Amino acid sequence: SMINLQYIYHNGESTMNNSIYDNRIKIEIELRKAIEQNQFFLHYQPKLDLRTGELVGVEALIRWNHPRWGIVSPECFIGIAEDTDLIIPIGEWVLYAACQQIKTWQNHGFYTAVSVNLSQKQFINSNIVQTIEEVLEKTGLEPHYLEVELTESIKPDLEHTISSLQQLKNLRVSISIDDFGTGYSSLSYLKELPIDTLKIDQSFVRELHNNPNDEAIVKTIISIAHNLNLKVVAEGVETKEQLIFLQQHLCDQAQGYFFSKPMSAKELKDNLLEVQQIVNEHGISENTRN
Ligand code: C2E
Ligand code: MG
Ligand code: MG
Ligand code: MG
Repeated sequence: SMINLQYIYHNGESTMNNSIYDNRIKIEIELRKAIEQNQFFLHYQPKLDLRTGELVGVEALIRWNHPRWGIVSPECFIGIAEDTDLIIPIGEWVLYAACQQIKTWQNHGFYTAVSVNLSQKQFINSNIVQTIEEVLEKTGLEPHYLEVELTESIKPDLEHTISSLQQLKNLRVSISIDDFGTGYSSLSYLKELPIDTLKIDQSFVRELHNNPNDEAIVKTIISIAHNLNLKVVAEGVETKEQLIFLQQHLCDQAQGYFFSKPMSAKELKDNLLEVQQIVNEHGISENTRN
């Protein structure tokens, strides 16, 4: 399992503030080496259709295999990579590696789509449209197999971001809003951005059976999505009860540990049938089957 860097660095540090500051510097230095030395790899988490149980895509999630620290979680370094603009070369690597994997699978007769998380820095401080066009060209992947996931920390009023998204959309790349409901001005996104999918944040899914407000929020997001002709995906599904609730309320797709943790490309391919079976075994009821 993954390491939380805070624990490593707190040993021997004199004050909390110092250690956090030093950590950021150390992580930045190590991130630069990681880029040069190719220490990143991707895990893939299946995304399933809740009516058919079929795999509809995978989300690519970055991991860092540090020579001394071991496997480092993106929670520990994506923020620093964003602050230092290192997210630009790292993000390019992710796009390339993910598209190449999907193309490799295609060459073996396995067709699925991939979602890649993007940071706003990649829109502002790099030409993300050109990068994506180049990656698609080099890997030979057709654009409609690629989806980009943006969080609501992306400011919708940035004209440049909107126009980049429009260009991606024109290429036939899909666009998804990640962690929907947790950022600010959620609803203005729906008006300003050319999106295809909403991903319900896992914090709402987690408490579905303990908190009636979360039930209401999840139902509301599903109906907003459907009224706007968007697809809706639930993140962080961990239990059968959550799955059944989502199916009953006609959520289109889901991801979560209940089906599968993120895993290597090889593991995913090897376990695919089992993962798809889980939806079939646990939840497809007659009224959601049609
Ligand atoms: P995210 O895009 O919202 O991804 C979902 C996170 O939830 C992943 O954590 C995933 O492993 C985890 N997860 C999935 N199912 C479950 C579940 O059932 N229960 C629980 N508790 N967690 C679940 P991960 O891989 O640690 O990634 C964390 C975040 O780091 C991602 O959140 C995303 O915002 C960011 N990230 C990951 N890879 C990249 C990347 O390549 N580029 C950028 N810019 N950000 C990335
Ligand atoms: Mg995501
Ligand atoms: Mg998310
Ligand atoms: Mg997240």
